[in-house]
Amino acid sequence: MKVYGRITVFPDMPPRINRLYELAYNLWWSWHPEARALYSTLDPELWETVGHNPVRFLSEVSPVILEKAASNPEYLRQFDTVLNDFDRYMHPGPEGTWFSRTYPSLTDKTIAYFSAEFGLHEALPIYSGGLGILSGDHCKEASDLGLPFVGVGFLYPQGYFSQQITREGRQEAIYEKLHFSQAPVVPAVGPDGHEVMISVDLPGRRIYAKVWRLMVGRIPLYLMDTDVEPNAPADRELSARLYAGDREMRISQEIMLGIGGVRALRALGIEPAVWHLNEGHAAFLSLERCRELVAQGMTFDEAREVVTANSLFTTHTPVPAGNDTFNYDLIDKYFGAYWGQLGLTRDQFLEVAREDHGWGATYGMTVLALRLTGQHNGVSALHGAVSRKMWQFLWPGLDVDDVPIGSITNGVHTFSWIAPEINALFQRYLAPDWGEHIDDAAFWDNRIQNIPDDALWHTHLQRKKQLIEYARRSLREQHLRLGEGSFQIAEFEQMLKPEALIIGFARRFATYKRATLLFRDIERLKRILNDPERPVQIIFAGKAHPADEPGKALIEQIYHHSRSPEFKGKIILLENYDIDMARYLVSGADLWLNNPIRPYEASGTSGQKAALNGLPNFSILDGWWAEGYNGSNGWSIGEEREYHDQEVQADADSASLYDTLENEIIPTFFNYDERGIPTRWIAYMKEAIRTCTPQFSMRRMVKEYTTRYYVPEIEQGTAIQQNNYERVRTLARWKKRVQQHWPSLQLYVNGQREGQLSLGESIEVHAWVRVNELTPEELLVELVYGDLYEEHARPQYAVPMRYVQREQDGAYRFDAVLQPEASGSIAYNVRVVPSHPLLTEKYEMGLIRWG
Ligand SMILES: *Cc1c(COP(=O)(O)O)cnc(C)c1O
Repeated sequence: MKVYGRITVFPDMPPRINRLYELAYNLWWSWHPEARALYSTLDPELWETVGHNPVRFLSEVSPVILEKAASNPEYLRQFDTVLNDFDRYMHPGPEGTWFSRTYPSLTDKTIAYFSAEFGLHEALPIYSGGLGILSGDHCKEASDLGLPFVGVGFLYPQGYFSQQITREGRQEAIYEKLHFSQAPVVPAVGPDGHEVMISVDLPGRRIYAKVWRLMVGRIPLYLMDTDVEPNAPADRELSARLYAGDREMRISQEIMLGIGGVRALRALGIEPAVWHLNEGHAAFLSLERCRELVAQGMTFDEAREVVTANSLFTTHTPVPAGNDTFNYDLIDKYFGAYWGQLGLTRDQFLEVAREDHGWGATYGMTVLALRLTGQHNGVSALHGAVSRKMWQFLWPGLDVDDVPIGSITNGVHTFSWIAPEINALFQRYLAPDWGEHIDDAAFWDNRIQNIPDDALWHTHLQRKKQLIEYARRSLREQHLRLGEGSFQIAEFEQMLKPEALIIGFARRFATYKRATLLFRDIERLKRILNDPERPVQIIFAGKAHPADEPGKALIEQIYHHSRSPEFKGKIILLENYDIDMARYLVSGADLWLNNPIRPYEASGTSGQKAALNGLPNFSILDGWWAEGYNGSNGWSIGEEREYHDQEVQADADSASLYDTLENEIIPTFFNYDERGIPTRWIAYMKEAIRTCTPQFSMRRMVKEYTTRYYVPEIEQGTAIQQNNYERVRTLARWKKRVQQHWPSLQLYVNGQREGQLSLGESIEVHAWVRVNELTPEELLVELVYGDLYEEHARPQYAVPMRYVQREQDGAYRFDAVLQPEASGSIAYNVRVVPSHPLLTEKYEMGLIRWG
């Protein structure tokens, strides 16, 4: 039969445990194993069959089982405990949440967070990798902290693919359809009580999306789906898959995410006070907000002031392919009817997002996002610096250190990633409520030594055993599918040994992550892996993007190594890396390996998950590990530098990798005391937990976003709306005037050019600025100085110069005294930037003149 409708019918539920439904529809269970256990323990086999999805589970579980549970006192006791916790979480009482305690007056504001993917749980495959996991963790923590927060994205019915590996080692992408009636989502309802349906115009047609609501603890995610009437079949596929299809599909998806997403929030009656663009995919949302304001009578320049005042953009990758750009013919086709609604000409519209690296201008989503948001950040200190360099061209004249892109280092949602056994250990030896102290470094400093070595080690061995069992199951399934004989299958039952040093390597197979670096010197690797006294085994897992042939080739190579006589049983490749597998790997391996090409790993988060479970990291000093590594919480690979030649870099990094593995890591791991406990290794484990758990937690991260960006932007967004946007008009008018006259500006500096000073002495510096139509108050003239290394001067100090007088020729004179703080070689200069009390950022206009 051709399917027209699909309805999930639940069995009769005994009233005593009826709330199992309610619980199933809140992803709160995804970070509370005891809540998942209310389902899984009823029928463990079915729980596996339904992919750990409680909604599907309830539709298929036998009524007899439910009846039994409803009269089982032990089950009911657990049921009551979980629901009690759930109720207290959802309604925290007068004490409130962190946000309501810290910012009581802002609890009626809304932070809207746009992301193309959300990685919340394996049962909801609407994520592909680190970006999605980060979004999912961000939402969970926003809920924990009590932020007034909503997420906006897609409910991809086919999501990201499941991976199968063929006999030849080829990756095959399997798309399974997620039936929404069996997912923990409900249709979103607007203030009028109707289900929300929105539309956007694409070339020659209007396409519609239904909006679904997914509850993540206290916060809702609004997820769009285009598989609805009356869309044409091709348009129904628009939101079918994540990152699939051609450029037209991509731009259509991004139009739906950005423009459709704004319309969805409007239809829901939600008025965000802050807009957070998680990666450039959502950048069209700023255009849509401008369009709304232009429709209300503003100019584009005014609208832009309003939009930038309360929006934040987080960039996630320095890899060029990760920054979407579109050709102008595509922009003409998709936005030809749109720029007029912004009051812009084609040229003006294109100029906003223009990116030109010498082979022709394109429309860059990262450029658009940077230009139409007021605050921007990268995801680790190093990535912040790399991003400032990468996008410096948008602020010509600014020193790279002054480019307004900050950084907040990523973190992970602790309770989503901690193994239950480690959680129990922390409860016992740190504090029953240790979760209240996640980001309090002093708490960890003071208590980590309370955990006895043997308790930590034996807990770790329990996790290791579970990983080994998981891996054997997975290999068995994989090879049964491939039709292998029982002899070979039996081999897998023996694979992986608890006494071996097990190294975990799991992440997307993107080429910059260099999954095969370890194989650069095969003979050396053979020696390392084939020492019978000190066995070492490595588990690999990860998906390559279906269109990434070089990424897929890496999988093939590793697959062949895993089948070769010398590495069989020592190199293990597991298929279909997902959140479920990640939980086993980051808590059951002994060591977490990461060896990307520095500086392409913007942050990386899997190593943070590993560290909080007591796994030391062994990684390139890139992304978060460049901040996390302290010499005794894991090991580094290579040096803290970049190379021009990637082959040279790979030689240097792999040599360092083998050396450290042979000379430090393996001897430390296999150094057991008389009780059979590797005490030196355990010192590394504890140091990993102590240093990384607080610093690389999602709690620290979301608090940082809140205090540094969300709260100031809420305030600014509110201030700017007063008196019917009076400030905006003033500011937009002023900027226009400044832009017009800036080219006429001339700057003369007069001060000592060469010479010596004794410490404590000073020199006078004078500057004259001549400019049409601008007053001295509209200029910020700064004396800038800093250390001079060889020929490179670092601007470290900027001292405002004092306006003295208007000279007879009309020039403004400014004075300052330069008095160096320390001895050494210094350089100085003078610069002028436009200044206005309503500017958010000193450099937001991108205008600067140096002496
Ligand atoms: C954490 C995680 C990632 C991101 O890992 P990186 O080390 O940052 O690449 C990707 N996929 C899954 C399933 C994860 O759990």
